[in-house]
Amino acid sequence: MKIALIAHDKKKDAIIELAKAYKDVLAAHNLYATGTTGTLIMGETGLCIHRMKSGPLGGDQQIGAMLANGELDLIIFLRDPLTAQPHEPDVSALLRLCDVQKIPLATNASSAIIMLEALKQGVYFK
Ligand code: PGA
Repeated sequence: MKIALIAHDKKKDAIIELAKAYKDVLAAHNLYATGTTGTLIMGETGLCIHRMKSGPLGGDQQIGAMLANGELDLIIFLRDPLTAQPHEPDVSALLRLCDVQKIPLATNASSAIIMLEALKQGVYFK
């Protein structure tokens, strides 16, 4: 499966924790991420990740383009609901495309854990 990992700045620690806890699960899939999120996860886990531009510089739109082309199977996007984001329009567009394409989307760590546990048990979202 092709999995995208994204986290707003105040959720970077949380996505790193998730990536560490589910490193073996994630390592079995093709991973994509926005720039900073991907660099941090790679540095902390050694996972191999295809990195896009940083989110505020177009990375969310690059992930969105992959979604529009049917090239992603699952998105974990840990959003910060308490901080205004300069690229909010890009974020909204990405979330909308997940629903257009019916792609599973986790926007907080609890839902991400459910998805990763399912992946661990061999449940695929297709
Ligand atoms: P980043 O982008 O991984 O480059 O920080 C995430 C975002 O804010 O969309």
